[in-house]
Amino acid sequence: MPPAPAPRLRADISGLPRYVPGRPAPSDLVDKLSSNENPYPPLPSVIAALREELGRVNRYPDPTSSELVTELSTALTVPAHHLVPGTGSLGVTRDLLRAAAGEGDEVLFAWRSFEAYPQLIWATGATPVPIPLHDERHDLKAMADAVTDRTRLILICNPNNPTGTAVHRAELDRFLDRVPAHVLVVLDEAYREFVDDTDVPDGITCYRDRPNVAVLRTFSKAYGLARLRVGYAVAHPPVAAALRACTVPFGVSGPAQAAARASLNARPELLERVRTLVTERTRLTCALRIAGWTVPDSQANFVWLRLGTRTPAFAAACEAAGVMVRPFADEGARITVGTPEQNDRLLKIAADWPT
Ligand SMILES: *Cc1c(COP(=O)(O)O)cnc(C)c1O
Repeated sequence: MPPAPAPRLRADISGLPRYVPGRPAPSDLVDKLSSNENPYPPLPSVIAALREELGRVNRYPDPTSSELVTELSTALTVPAHHLVPGTGSLGVTRDLLRAAAGEGDEVLFAWRSFEAYPQLIWATGATPVPIPLHDERHDLKAMADAVTDRTRLILICNPNNPTGTAVHRAELDRFLDRVPAHVLVVLDEAYREFVDDTDVPDGITCYRDRPNVAVLRTFSKAYGLARLRVGYAVAHPPVAAALRACTVPFGVSGPAQAAARASLNARPELLERVRTLVTERTRLTCALRIAGWTVPDSQANFVWLRLGTRTPAFAAACEAAGVMVRPFADEGARITVGTPEQNDRLLKIAADWPT
């Protein structure tokens, strides 16, 4: 008998870009500075909230995360119906793309930026339009110039992963003034809590009087809940409603909702940790520069070293010394800010490396 034909899939599926995750750490003894995770374990109050949820996992979660939405609405002073939680801000990004773009449409984004964007855009059937960074920063003029009749959505990663650079208020306002009102601009602020440059705008102030601006935030980074998968969008009602229509029902689990709420409650304690990481970011940046490295100013919980073709060798040297960084082929390495001890170990390796 001839073999049964394979199921028919999308013709372009084998050409789709894939998300290449950071490799898992080979052991707990390794310093994992490769995935922009928060190095600190969950607070006791967050663990207590999770424990309470474990006894209820036979039940479906609240499908709209209503209590989390109410609390976020108060914390951010935005109306509750402008908030849409999802399975990490990645899940929300995917749903927003689906809500706004399809076959024949174009989605603009800077490159290099967040690894996941090309894959998520392709999966909607839309055409990804990467706009090269200029000096490791978003080139907002080139991005505005690249808008066509087919542009549906523009992703701005602020601060940018993996370079850490941030877009400033004046240039963002100029850009938003140029983008047609029917094009959705999504400000991905996964690292917002780590921003200490007052010229970097809070996306929520930009969205308020601009119906075509949406903001993405996450509990994964500053709040240290990466494994639970919870993030959210802030958007005006037509966009928020379209986004809800594209969202997987019951996507945000009960434990994720409970831990997110407990984290909002523990905000002062968690933001204290963020301050420590920001201080460490400054220390890491200065020490690397003194050792001869060129390091762009980072507003996130990582720093970027443009190593070019020496990237794989640097990543291997780090790994041999028990530190994992995130290499991007022949472009550079991204190093997540860890605890002071972890950063010291990284600095020792970097100081010995011929820059
Ligand atoms: C880490 C990251 C995210 C993913 O956040 P989740 O909420 O864990 O899905 C989104 N955007 C950027 C730019 C990131 O670096």
